[in-house]
Amino acid sequence: MTKSLLILPGDGIGPEVMVEVRKIIDWMNEQGQDFEVSEDLVGGAAYDVHGVPLSDATMEKAQEVDAVLLGAVGGYKYDELDFSVKPERGLLRLRKEMDLFANLRPAQCFDALADFSSLKRDVVAGLDIMIVRELTSGIYFGEPRGIIEEGNERVGINTQRYTESEIARAARSAFELARRRGGKVCSMEKANVMESGILWRDVVTEEHANYPDIELTHMYADNGAMQLVRNPKQFDVIVTDNLFGDLLSDAAAMLTGSLGMLPSASLGAPMANGRPKALYEPVHGSAPDIAGQGKANPCACILSLAMALRYSFDMGEEATRLEASVEKVLADGVRTPDLMQSGEGTPATTSQMGDAVLEAFKRASS
Ligand code: NAD
Repeated sequence: MTKSLLILPGDGIGPEVMVEVRKIIDWMNEQGQDFEVSEDLVGGAAYDVHGVPLSDATMEKAQEVDAVLLGAVGGYKYDELDFSVKPERGLLRLRKEMDLFANLRPAQCFDALADFSSLKRDVVAGLDIMIVRELTSGIYFGEPRGIIEEGNERVGINTQRYTESEIARAARSAFELARRRGGKVCSMEKANVMESGILWRDVVTEEHANYPDIELTHMYADNGAMQLVRNPKQFDVIVTDNLFGDLLSDAAAMLTGSLGMLPSASLGAPMANGRPKALYEPVHGSAPDIAGQGKANPCACILSLAMALRYSFDMGEEATRLEASVEKVLADGVRTPDLMQSGEGTPATTSQMGDAVLEAFKRASS
């Protein structure tokens, strides 16, 4: 089976970090892999050419390929645009039309970077957890919503709404992931005060019957937030709703130190070939403050490629090897500026960092 990949570099540092990812893919193809790579525009780059942040033709391509790999979107230049054509709308359209309901946010602390965390080294060193956030439902989408007049004041309304099937498919994603990892899932909600939380807990428990090999625990999301900063290594996979997942995944991400190191995946239903609809992207934005200066850390984007290898192409060994190559380069002291304390030596440029990872990957693969 060929492996089709649509690359959308986007804006700001997106194209810079994507160059480093392309080097790795091109090298794998030289070694006999068969990635069919196409590139297209998203965000401000698409707006400049098409007047929209994602053209219908690009959307169609995204629906057809095995995986989409996106850099970042946004920039000062587009700040005044109408909401409907802002660069971020391109990304939201992709997520919505591909129906990417499971957002995977790993929080992994590389040993060489443990001192960058705001928590003590022994709390975070070796940390490796995965948060599965439900991405297409819940309070960000529920109706009714709006700001209405009631008596002589305004009332803001949002609705938390989950169907059983929406909860069940998020739960299944988490259980499947746990099978490839440490075999544990912790489900987080607020069943003590929210009916949607009671249903969430019920449905996750029902789905668990199909995964007797996985250990399931439940936790109230507020306690979960506390446990994440007290003892994050107790977790393997966390599954939670859209709102709690938004907060908990950002908190967990910061345990690891730098925004330049964080990958993500958003997965949907399996396609005809069995591979899930998938979008991989670094967590960071387009970083207009450092764009064009060779200062961007490409590791988050490279680690997003590693997630694509693992979850779209069943290349777990290669993914682990690529992640280990990033770890090796960091351990060797190669650092982009975001990974350095002030006055610590000469920083590596984006391409030097990318080249170092590729060299380490080549050595690990030989
Ligand atoms: P940002 O993530 O772009 O930058 C925040 C800070 O982190 C900046 O100081 C930046 O220099 C630094 N940083 C980010 N990524 C880095 C990397 N790989 N290497 C080194 N340093 C890095 O967030 P922001 O400044 O709030 O937003 C900038 C633009 O990006 C805005 O237009 C925003 O809407 C957009 N944005 C896009 C996405 C996305 O594409 N998924 C996500 C967040 C923000």
